Amino acid sequence: MSTHLDDTHAAGLTSWLDSANDPATELPIQNLPFGRFRREDDNGLWIGVAIGDQILDLRRVGLVQGAQMNQLMRLPREARVAIRQAISHGLRAGSPEEARFSAALVAQSDVEMSLPCKIGDYTDFYTSIHYATTVGKQFRPDYPLLPNYKWVPIGYHGRASSINVSGQSFARPLGQTKAPEADAPTLGPSRRLDYELEVGIFISRPNIIGERIPMSAAEDHVFGVALFNDWSARDIQGWEYQPLGPFLSKNFASTLSPWIVTIDALAPFRKAFNRPAGDPQPLPYLDSPQNREAGAIDIELEVWLQTPAMQQAGSPGERLTRSNYADAYWTVAQMVAHHTVNGCNLRAGDLFGSGTLSGPAPDQGGSPLELSHGGKQPIRLSNGVTRAFLEDGDTVILRGYCQRDGFSGIGFAECRGTVSPAQIESYM
Ligand code: MN
Repeated sequence: MSTHLDDTHAAGLTSWLDSANDPATELPIQNLPFGRFRREDDNGLWIGVAIGDQILDLRRVGLVQGAQMNQLMRLPREARVAIRQAISHGLRAGSPEEARFSAALVAQSDVEMSLPCKIGDYTDFYTSIHYATTVGKQFRPDYPLLPNYKWVPIGYHGRASSINVSGQSFARPLGQTKAPEADAPTLGPSRRLDYELEVGIFISRPNIIGERIPMSAAEDHVFGVALFNDWSARDIQGWEYQPLGPFLSKNFASTLSPWIVTIDALAPFRKAFNRPAGDPQPLPYLDSPQNREAGAIDIELEVWLQTPAMQQAGSPGERLTRSNYADAYWTVAQMVAHHTVNGCNLRAGDLFGSGTLSGPAPDQGGSPLELSHGGKQPIRLSNGVTRAFLEDGDTVILRGYCQRDGFSGIGFAECRGTVSPAQIESYM
């Protein structure tokens, strides 16, 4: 487990950069998340670390050679920890490196963020038992959870090409749908467009094909975590998903936050992982003392919706949901160990989606599918507007925070995406 604490996590640590010491910042010196940015006057994509309202250009301080994030991600654990140490030392108050590091800063407001790395293979899991149960109830009231759920970390292989970075807009997808009473399906814009509140987990060290990653080493193969919105077209999904699972209902767009919060930055926010009384214990290959002790990660998650009317009125939107990643039924280490138990090789830059992260309470649904009970009970917003599913112009914003007494809080910045009208001119 990545629970090792060092001086980079100390709550008293401050930076010579004032904006990093603002109590409201999600990006204090204890965070140091990695991303890729592009300057206005330059087409290159560079690796940076967010600090306060600035970005430290790692190449300009000689901490990376080129601009290949995936090369940095695949470094052994100790090398990644050493880079974090070097960044922390250069940025802290009183550092003899202040002049050199300060010359390598660029304002976040002056750059465009890109996806944080070249994403390899993408696997989406289903690790929230609360989500699996509420959604299962809509389809199978008598047996909402399928019998494999408490034994197998369920997942499917998704598509990486349509994953984009926060700030994106995408067109409402077209697809085949069929109303229950209709004789035949029709092609048209999805009318049940949904978001999914997830975290994305990035792989670092690859394993060789045929080589299993045991629980004890699983987190050495993890680079870090970002926010992830797995937009889903429920009407397309309902018609296509049997027998092979989701396909075009999922691969039209997904949105990632630009900063990967490293597994090392998350060390102070680990929590015990427990199965509820009466539930089966994980099979031995999915179990370890470290996983029981600290396998979960305490990340408070939020979903905000900004309708076009709210946007026009200058409102930042309204919070629809709060949940916590620590409520997931399977941990990051279990996802890695399970994914490789058959010898499947993971590569640096591969992405795991956690699956929709709903909490135990009914108002903690991680998608409108749950919050609106399958669209039957639309969500009522404070401006009187209702939503069963997303409408054109809606912006969905995911946020994430880690807090613990005795430590500096860190955040994930935001993951924002907007639904544009379907492009229907050419399909008829
Ligand atoms: Mn998903």
